[in-house]
Amino acid sequence: MRVSATPHPSVPIVRFLGGARTVTGSRFLVETPSARVLVDCGLFQGEKELRLRNWRDFPVPPSSIDAVALTHAHVDHSGYLPALVKQGFEGPIFATRSTLELCRIVLPDSGHLQEEDAAYANRKGYSKHAPALPLYSEADALRALERFCAVAFDEEVEIAAGVSARFRRAGHILGSAAIALSIDGNPPRRLVVSGDLGRGNHPVLRPADPPPEADAILIESTYGDRLHPHPTAVVAFEEAILRTVARGGSVVIPAFAVDRTEVILLELKRLRREGRIPDLPIYVDSPMALAALGVYRNAVASRTDEVLAEFASADGDPFDPGRLIEAHGTAESRAINQQHFPCIIISASGMATGGRVLHHLANRLPDPRNTIVLPGFQASGTRGRSLQEGAHSIKLLGRYVPVRAEILDLPAFSVHADRDELLAWLASAEKPPEIVYVVHGEPEAAESLSNAIERELGVPSVVPRDGECVRLR
Ligand SMILES: [Zn+2]
Repeated sequence: MRVSATPHPSVPIVRFLGGARTVTGSRFLVETPSARVLVDCGLFQGEKELRLRNWRDFPVPPSSIDAVALTHAHVDHSGYLPALVKQGFEGPIFATRSTLELCRIVLPDSGHLQEEDAAYANRKGYSKHAPALPLYSEADALRALERFCAVAFDEEVEIAAGVSARFRRAGHILGSAAIALSIDGNPPRRLVVSGDLGRGNHPVLRPADPPPEADAILIESTYGDRLHPHPTAVVAFEEAILRTVARGGSVVIPAFAVDRTEVILLELKRLRREGRIPDLPIYVDSPMALAALGVYRNAVASRTDEVLAEFASADGDPFDPGRLIEAHGTAESRAINQQHFPCIIISASGMATGGRVLHHLANRLPDPRNTIVLPGFQASGTRGRSLQEGAHSIKLLGRYVPVRAEILDLPAFSVHADRDELLAWLASAEKPPEIVYVVHGEPEAAESLSNAIERELGVPSVVPRDGECVRLR
């Protein structure tokens, strides 16, 4: 057994090392008298002040952590893993099979982006360090992947001395889980970490399982202060496509590579099947989105236990609305710029912080015939948020580009539960927890959900501060 640099506490505690009063950098450290387990190991994203936090020393020596349990593959939950391994973490990383498959795509890509950022800083000479180094490299990401252990849903697995975990479906993206930890002791303690929760109406995934009995639940609050529009609000999507086509324009959709692309393709397929939109070329222009699409196709074809039983894949590729064009290479991506007939372009990243969507936005934003659809959460400080808030111009690829295209905000496509859906998930628990900690949300959203939990469910609820440490009773 490894000797840790700092002593273990005499009773189990949770330390909020990230994802506290912010939507990124989810990291919750559970320390028991015999083990140290990290639930999620996310990258901070968005505002520069947040991104700089990725460079701070990890609050405990990574070599002293016995195991990581990962809720899902999104980078704000998984993206710091390569850095943790680079800094000496040697334990196993427990995740569901689909999360592992998606991390094989997401983490090396993140390493590649870190290397590109460092190379860019070196070219521009604006790094304090010479030469600027990446937070981690693609090779570091591959090393982190070697530490993954795939676990099945619902199975109880011992992940560290005296700590076992059960992964329950979260219905958010493929592989996503809420993790229930059981900690040996007198009395034993139980803790549930929600990860991100889906909406219960995902077109492919089974809805979230109810949380098991727990002393404390950590719940996400991305949309903790909002209600999503009624499902019929996706009519706005159909209408926007028709308006754009009538103007002779095209639709650009910055979409999160994992899951949002699939949800949008399924919606487009439905609109085509019902004859509600014309037969348009639909480009998916993101190597990562296409790789993730492959994982979804496999999961559907093999009918894994997280896919809805009624999800029919009988009529060929379930994700092809009819004229799906996959742009794998950069030449294929650039060729889309020459497409002057109405088309739909789905490209990453989802908040327009990087990736191929930047050149599509630079190309299509200045033309009022086009429409930009924002189907997901746009964190503060991102170009996506600027567009959502009505910016007249945004900086893309080193220059300011005027925003003349129509901008359509479509939170109805969110794969995050809204306030009522989060409350309903908590209320479905076998027994109410003694306390709820509201995490993974901007301060207003977290506070608002926390108040609603106390008022409507009668359960004590707290929004923990960053770095705060609490005992598990
Ligand atoms: Zn997520």
